[in-house]
Amino acid sequence: MKAIIYYDVGDFRLEDIPVPKIGPGEMLVRVRACGICSTDLYRAEYRRAKPGSVLGHEISGEVAEVGPEVKRFSPGDRVAVLHHAPCGACYYCMHAQEPLCDQYRRTNVDPGGFAEYIRVPSELVEKTVIKIPDKMSFEEATMIEPTACAVRAISKSRIFPGDTVLVIGGGPLGILNAQVAKAYGATQVIVSDHHDLRVKIAEEVGVDYAFNARKVNVEEAVRRLTEGRGADLVVIAVASSSAVQEGLRIIRWGGRVCIFGDFRDVPQPNLDVDPKLILRDDVTILGSWGCAPYDYYAAFNLIKSGRVKVRELITHRFPLEQFNDALKVISSKECMRVVLEI
Ligand SMILES: [Zn+2]
Ligand SMILES: [Zn+2]
Repeated sequence: MKAIIYYDVGDFRLEDIPVPKIGPGEMLVRVRACGICSTDLYRAEYRRAKPGSVLGHEISGEVAEVGPEVKRFSPGDRVAVLHHAPCGACYYCMHAQEPLCDQYRRTNVDPGGFAEYIRVPSELVEKTVIKIPDKMSFEEATMIEPTACAVRAISKSRIFPGDTVLVIGGGPLGILNAQVAKAYGATQVIVSDHHDLRVKIAEEVGVDYAFNARKVNVEEAVRRLTEGRGADLVVIAVASSSAVQEGLRIIRWGGRVCIFGDFRDVPQPNLDVDPKLILRDDVTILGSWGCAPYDYYAAFNLIKSGRVKVRELITHRFPLEQFNDALKVISSKECMRVVLEI
């Protein structure tokens, strides 16, 4: 089968590798679509992936073969596959902190979504594979995983009906956070970004206000919309310390700031925070990373019901053979979500 193999920074190659063999409780899935996520690109850029490995984790496809003991699925089923399954029984799982679970961090599909076939291990078959309805396209189903990460962030951030939410960073995950916040009851959702394309797409999916921060003073705009108070919740959907500082300026007393952008490889991601902001102004700073099976199901339902629109976020599609062209589009920033159709 064909797969995109990662070797080094900027060195991805299309190669032929064997189709994985499956065992009891496992499934072979013919991948139909896989989103290219910034997490995959970070891993490649900062050499966190092993040379010779296959990346890609936002996966949908068709069940090609089921191993003995698989009851819930049969060949031909259309499915979305989440790549991490928590054990459900460890200390962290018992505290609903599944992304800290050892099994969660260990589980993955084999070899990865940028390939024609994947072996889905039994833990995932049991907990995180979802049958998708005919009316949901494969490319829409690739957005369930990122939406689930937004569901988790917004759930952790405790939205109250009528809240004003500012999302700094209008990439796919920023706009998903904005839409999920609205579905959770926020009445004013604002997205700020530096790219007109992203501002336009944010407006298209029904965000209340989308600003290009190069042209609009976002802090002033949020104050105007909140009787001077500031936002109830700010989600930082970009890995930038200055965006967090901006969020801390725009948050109201007693509000929440959720760090969502992936800071793992940002050089010196230090924050200057006045403890009085947390103590006297009662601002809560939290973060959200990953998602659990219940977030995945919530995301699936939000997309299926049309409460979260994902089709508008997919701006480019490429076959596996043109993976390097897809990377060029992503680095140009003139895109939103880029999906491989396999
Ligand atoms: Zn992702
Ligand atoms: Zn666990």
